[in-house]
Amino acid sequence: MPDNLRPPRIHVLSKPTGATCNLACAYCFFLDKELLYPSSNFRMSDEILESYIRQLIESHRTPEVTVAWQGGEPTLMGVDFYRKAIELQNKYRKPGMTFENTMQTNGTLLDDEWCEFFKENNFLIGISIDGPRKLHDVYRVDKGGKGTFDNVMRGVRLLQKHGVEFNVLVTVNRINADYPLEVYHFLRDEVGTEWIQVIPVIERINPDGVNVIQQGDTVTERSVQPEQFGRFMIRIFDEWILNDVGEMFVQTFEATARNWMGLPSSGMCVFEETCGLGLALEHNGDLYSCDHFVEPDYLLGNIQDEHMIDLVSSDQQVQFGLNKRDTLPQYCRECDVRFACKGECPKNRFIQTPTGEPGLNYLCAGWKAFFHRVDEPLKMLTMVMRSGRPASDVMAIMAEKEADLQAAFARAADDKPCPCGSGLDFKQCHGWQRTKRGRKRRGKIGGLARPPVSAGASADAPANPEDVN
Ligand code: SF4
Ligand code: SF4
Repeated sequence: MPDNLRPPRIHVLSKPTGATCNLACAYCFFLDKELLYPSSNFRMSDEILESYIRQLIESHRTPEVTVAWQGGEPTLMGVDFYRKAIELQNKYRKPGMTFENTMQTNGTLLDDEWCEFFKENNFLIGISIDGPRKLHDVYRVDKGGKGTFDNVMRGVRLLQKHGVEFNVLVTVNRINADYPLEVYHFLRDEVGTEWIQVIPVIERINPDGVNVIQQGDTVTERSVQPEQFGRFMIRIFDEWILNDVGEMFVQTFEATARNWMGLPSSGMCVFEETCGLGLALEHNGDLYSCDHFVEPDYLLGNIQDEHMIDLVSSDQQVQFGLNKRDTLPQYCRECDVRFACKGECPKNRFIQTPTGEPGLNYLCAGWKAFFHRVDEPLKMLTMVMRSGRPASDVMAIMAEKEADLQAAFARAADDKPCPCGSGLDFKQCHGWQRTKRGRKRRGKIGGLARPPVSAGASADAPANPEDVN
């Protein structure tokens, strides 16, 4: 491929410790990925590190380069590994080039030395936390099965003490999905973050129980259900659009608002027409199509054998990216919210459409409900911004409509469409709390039996805000 047709920048999630982690979160799909490298020590060598940084820089024609560290748990490498990485960035830096290092971590191994290093080198840290203790500790456990909430919060407080910039990644599973406002209020008011990234837990379970390769359409009981996920997002959106626009940044809302405004990019690969520029680098230099496809069929090659930019520009990878658009089922092509959804991530396209066509997104019902619900408020937001007013002005407009909406909820019948516009039955949407949660869910979390550890959730990728506020 000629140089001018190659992408000007790429995003690589590097995994210097491979899949290894000091914790054993029940839904972490990377734990099974260790099986891909049976005799490995799962530590990136200095040689691979140098190739990676050099090639990443050489692959960029833009002055800004993001260097993203992830895992497993990347802090298991120790601070000195990242000191070397910074030295290499300085060694190979092109004139005028700037770096943003990001790291997604569970936060449990952080100490003053780590935080001083992060601050000094301007790292953006993503902390994985699933809500208050009772929700977080359901699945985010250590290797002894013990909840990790206290250790994660200790890490958060250390980051705050040192003034390190951080955001939060929350994975939405079958349990915490029933507590959207508890999760949101906790992150906003107690963790004190302004930036939240939401990732749905969708674990496909193979007959042998090992999830190295994603197959079939059966999901584990930890996986969030489609309507449940839609409801989770809607309830947080309702809170945000009334109270927090311009103060809190939820990556999905920012991306969705960008789509409603007709901006060229949503800023999230899952809501783009095509993808393929966000790759995953294993500890040994193997480069995969995406963090969600660290599987043998999606191995592009090793950066010690072939330059990263050649692998990214290969026919295999270009086709991978185009498939996101080209394999959309007819049902999606005719969907009224396709402009925002774009069929979401191919990883989740494993159910059938109502007419039996394969390749529909597992979360379709949830995304559709969410996009329908946000339609009117985001049209208001767009109008406000186009008139040159601050985005936060939309809150007063929505507040005026709130009393009418609440009155409509009070009159709504369970089996009729929810007045919020989601298209879900009222009992699945804003009426759910009234009809289900009070008697079935509240108080059950403490006594929940934990399912066996197997595989999992999703890429812990720190958000890089491109806010619309
Ligand atoms: S496969 Fe999914 S997560 Fe990966 S780049 Fe494409 S849309 Fe993004
Ligand atoms: S909402 Fe459903 S039908 Fe519409 S584009 Fe998304 S996955 Fe396809």
